[in-house]
Amino acid sequence: MSTTAQRPSSPGRAPLPLLVLGRGRELATERGVECPGELPAPSDPGLVERARAAKAALGNDVFVLGHHYQRDEVIEFADVTGDSFKLAKEAAGRPEAPYIVFCGVHFMAESADILTAEHQQVILPDLAAGCSMADMAAISQVDDAWDDLADAGVAEDVVPVTYMNSSAAIKAFTGRHGGTVCTSSNAVTAMRWAFDQRGGFEGPGGRGKVLFLPDQHLGRNTAVRELGLSLTDCVVFDPHKPGGGLTRTQVQQARVILWRGHCSVHGRFSLDAVRAARAGIPGVRVIVHPECQYDVVEAADAVGSTEKIIQTIAAAPDGTAWAVGTELNLVRRLAATFPRQRIAFLEKNVCYCSTMNRIDLPHLVWSLESLVQGRVVNQIRVDPDVARWAGIALDQMLALPGETSKD
Ligand code: SF4
Repeated sequence: MSTTAQRPSSPGRAPLPLLVLGRGRELATERGVECPGELPAPSDPGLVERARAAKAALGNDVFVLGHHYQRDEVIEFADVTGDSFKLAKEAAGRPEAPYIVFCGVHFMAESADILTAEHQQVILPDLAAGCSMADMAAISQVDDAWDDLADAGVAEDVVPVTYMNSSAAIKAFTGRHGGTVCTSSNAVTAMRWAFDQRGGFEGPGGRGKVLFLPDQHLGRNTAVRELGLSLTDCVVFDPHKPGGGLTRTQVQQARVILWRGHCSVHGRFSLDAVRAARAGIPGVRVIVHPECQYDVVEAADAVGSTEKIIQTIAAAPDGTAWAVGTELNLVRRLAATFPRQRIAFLEKNVCYCSTMNRIDLPHLVWSLESLVQGRVVNQIRVDPDVARWAGIALDQMLALPGETSKD
């Protein structure tokens, strides 16, 4: 299994279905883990200067990556910003930097550890920065699900496709079973490739099936909107119910088996919010991320990965009005970067990604100052066997044609 440093093991403990925030609650996972050592007080007026000084002292030995959903105070110190896949590739392209400080969430740091060289150490400033979507697919649950598919007599027809937003253990499962990782940009290419491994997806008699992990919405939007399958071709596998809550016939007739997972941020944008934006903002264009629910994506004017949302807005004429359905930190920065456009957040009832927001300036300063003192804290290390199989699934993704940026 994948591990982080300084985490005691807890054999036999059932995985938590949802992320629990808080301190000292679940020491066998990254959930709610307290950082060792003294964190600077958030009220310390010298934090910005301390971060600058620590980065200057480390020079080219440190490379700070900032995901698009990070706070402004963290992005300020990022050497590069981007989506998780771009950031992992950036880290791999900086072999001269022994320390990679990943300002993002746990699965992203794992991917960076898999893709970087042996001598590079990947640091997550707060180990509690997990991802609730990734946590919705535990490896024990997915192994059990595969057994259920075998019992239904379909496992040999199934190719797993795993979204980048998953643990290294799930990516390794995908590699072991001949599947591929995908991003929100290339999910359609990945799904088509997966069907092609079993004779193609054309026609009602097609034999192949895809097990899509862990985001049911991205899987459904891809299968139905992009590949032209019907909603009834898709079934949802609920890991908390025996057999996934599906009958043998349902599994046998399905073309796409969607894992019952979702993003706690994007899954909350609603059809009512799209209607309210259209009613309240003259000429508005609604643009959303494909992790949003199917009816929301259907009602939007445009859908795309974080990078595509940024590029679309950057290319729009002055005066364009947008209602944007993605993480709030990014939407706020888009509004500040493109003041000649009218950019609104799509849904008033959605807030920041709480786990992304775990990385703040005190944690960043603590990580950097620890490195200056010769201490590597919060290193993310993936088990070598898990890394090998996850790397095979990631390499398969890299071999797919087209774009690979995500999130
Ligand atoms: S925005 Fe959603 S998918 Fe991204 S880290 Fe937060 S919970 Fe996970």
